[in-house]
Amino acid sequence: MNARTILIIEDNPLNLELASDLLEVAGYIVLRADAAEEGLQLARASKPDLVLMDVSLPGMDGLAATAALKKDPVTARIPVVALTAHAMKGDEEKAMSAGCAGYLTKPIDTRAFTSIIAGYLKASEISARESSI
Ligand code: MN
Repeated sequence: MNARTILIIEDNPLNLELASDLLEVAGYIVLRADAAEEGLQLARASKPDLVLMDVSLPGMDGLAATAALKKDPVTARIPVVALTAHAMKGDEEKAMSAGCAGYLTKPIDTRAFTSIIAGYLKASEISARESSI
């Protein structure tokens, strides 16, 4: 099986580094962006298997960026998992209504992180297979 590619869009350098390191150690190819606009360009150009999207980004926020990915036929089917530091009530609903497949709160659980990501990838592959029948 080919290595899966994950695009992380996160403006906090430490969080970006941590998530990248964990995914690379687990065998994923990681693409990084620290702003939404750059992330959207990378997503269109590289069509990653999954996008990890920080909700709070300078300029365009992660929910607006997710909505933009979902509107573009090139990137619409890529699952987006939101990352947020704000464990605020309503955030999950906002992430889901923007089109996110799921939601993780920061700080990430370093022991569970890569298996959670693997779970989202698997769910997305199953739904892609079902919709192609
Ligand atoms: Mn941020």
